[in-house]
Amino acid sequence: MKTYKIAVIPGDGIGPEVTSAAVSVLKAAGELEGISFEFTECDAGGCAIDKYGIPLPEATLETCRASDAVLLGAVGGPRWDSVEPSKRPERALLGLRSGLGLYSNLRPALMFKELASASPVKNVETMDILIVRELTGGIYFGKHGRADSSEVLSDGSVKGVTAYDTEEYSTAEITRILKEGFRYAQGRSKKLTLVDKANVLESSRLWREIAAELAPSYPDVVLDYLYVDNCSMQLIHRPSTFDVIVTSNMFGDILSDEAGMITGSIGMLPSASLGAPGTPGMYEPVHGSAPDIAGTGKANPIATILSASMLLRWSLCETAASDRIEKAVRGTLADGFRTCDIASSDSDIVLDTEQMTSKILERL
Ligand code: NAD
Repeated sequence: MKTYKIAVIPGDGIGPEVTSAAVSVLKAAGELEGISFEFTECDAGGCAIDKYGIPLPEATLETCRASDAVLLGAVGGPRWDSVEPSKRPERALLGLRSGLGLYSNLRPALMFKELASASPVKNVETMDILIVRELTGGIYFGKHGRADSSEVLSDGSVKGVTAYDTEEYSTAEITRILKEGFRYAQGRSKKLTLVDKANVLESSRLWREIAAELAPSYPDVVLDYLYVDNCSMQLIHRPSTFDVIVTSNMFGDILSDEAGMITGSIGMLPSASLGAPGTPGMYEPVHGSAPDIAGTGKANPIATILSASMLLRWSLCETAASDRIEKAVRGTLADGFRTCDIASSDSDIVLDTEQMTSKILERL
């Protein structure tokens, strides 16, 4: 029997609740498909700050590096809001991304037809978008800083503090992520939309130039371009017309939350962060630690369970086990079972986190 090493980072808030659900589903799906897992639990985020004074202990990073894949819940919460910025729980995510070389973030926004009525957008019948977000460059990793100035301006006021964050992308970084975008489009309905702000930003203009250079190597893919502000409107207006969107770190961060919300709930959205082939990928729900519902049993475990399904597919190539999980989730929704975030009609049977996990396990 093949055994895979999985590093599990439950994190904070609802993180431990949803990762425990996903681990039980992974174990059960693995048993049915003749594969097994060696899970190693690691600390990161607020709980690591409490134990070690830092959000990402080196031991966590080492365990992740030595694993076949990483499953993460969520980090952060109001308890750590006053911690100095360089030690906040969210720094653990940046540390894991750079420490594991995870440059590509895949965020599928798939509308389950059973949940169409839970969408805040009217009349969305179908939606199946893959957002490919660059993850280790751009403004989140560019030069940040502040400069103080006592210069007196023409209106007599003092200029004071200026804060800056810099958007910077190299040809190598852009080419790497665009190639991923083209390849994913080839495996889907062959349409790639590059989202940028090329009317204003020089970095966006470089993205467009490189995309145009690469396009002839992918003749089966139709490439189009959209400004990010227009894209945010079109996602609401015509979500079913998008296939693969490729974009920078910050635009992808924002658009993937918007696209996700159209599907009904942030509690349904999985994600994968991948690096070079053969290195461990990291899989996590798009949502955060939801401190407002932690410990209440209201957390929807499906985003993390679908992240586990992506883990099987993208990092372990265990397609049958991955398909099994997706089918079980669909079956559970089709039978009318809902957590409270996705319940929208009187006929829905509303379950807590553990009950929803049990229904999915039954349907594997
Ligand atoms: P959030 O995603 O945690 O919560 C937003 C809203 O969605 C809340 O009302 C929450 O109850 C609800 N929600 C989220 N996940 C849900 C689920 N599985 N089931 C049902 N409802 C769900 O975002 P936030 O409130 O802005 O952030 C809370 C904390 O999480 C902050 O500290 C933030 O920094 C952190 N965060 C972490 C990550 C991560 O670890 N990847 C991502 C985003 C935010």
